[in-house]
Amino acid sequence: MGTAAAEGIPALFCECEICKEAQRRGGKNIRMRSAVILANRLLIDFGPDMFYQKIKNNLDFSHLKHVLITHSHSDHFDTTALWFRHNPFCHINGDKMMTIYGNEKVEKYFSYSLSGEENKPYIEFKRVYREQTFYADDIQITPLLARHAPDEECFVYYIEIEGKKVFYGNDSGIYPDSTIEFLKGKNLDLVIFDSNTAKHRDGKYHMGILDNVEVYERFKGQGTVNDNTKVVMTHFSHNGQMLHEELEIEAQKYGFIVAYDSLKLEI
Ligand SMILES: [Zn+2]
Ligand SMILES: [Zn+2]
Ligand SMILES: [Zn+2]
Repeated sequence: MGTAAAEGIPALFCECEICKEAQRRGGKNIRMRSAVILANRLLIDFGPDMFYQKIKNNLDFSHLKHVLITHSHSDHFDTTALWFRHNPFCHINGDKMMTIYGNEKVEKYFSYSLSGEENKPYIEFKRVYREQTFYADDIQITPLLARHAPDEECFVYYIEIEGKKVFYGNDSGIYPDSTIEFLKGKNLDLVIFDSNTAKHRDGKYHMGILDNVEVYERFKGQGTVNDNTKVVMTHFSHNGQMLHEELEIEAQKYGFIVAYDSLKLEI
């Protein structure tokens, strides 16, 4: 639903050439903050653009039960809209608890903003732990360690949903060895990479295209991916200094897919 880094593209107050050109070209160059929905029932991350993303994609969130949060940064967990999930801001029929899953810091933010009596019947938090597999209904989920903000345990996720295997690898630099090890032999159907710094390498907090290629080669060497695995790049920043069209030219060299807002993928 959204494919940008924290500031969006074009960034609200930015004067850089990428933002100016993105606004001029429009279309796939306009990027909202990151969010993905799997099988119409597992939302990954809840950022500040969720209101418009629901409308743009014509989604029914009244039935949404599971929201997986990667980490506490405000482009991934924005509690403002979640707070309104109670009467009279929102009319909910019957028992429709929505569960937010996340790490310790997300729990702290949840407790601060969303644990009031008004929200209690409608929204709950479940703490998840590194490499401890859990189920959201029939969806199997394992939090894995990302390489991102050092002041919290940021997660990327391995997910089995409707017979498909997905690795959601955003936000992250080059994954820690424990995460790469966990994904050995998984034969994934879909991999989603953080490609924030696009043109430039990073690896410590985010990834550029060549960091993605390095990880992809390691994945290939250990049976994490095969020739049929779909590999998607997302979470782009203006600081990656590439427009969508330029990203596509680079991505084609490696068979990767450049995400754009509202991209639908069948796996
Ligand atoms: Zn982010
Ligand atoms: Zn900019
Ligand atoms: Zn982040």
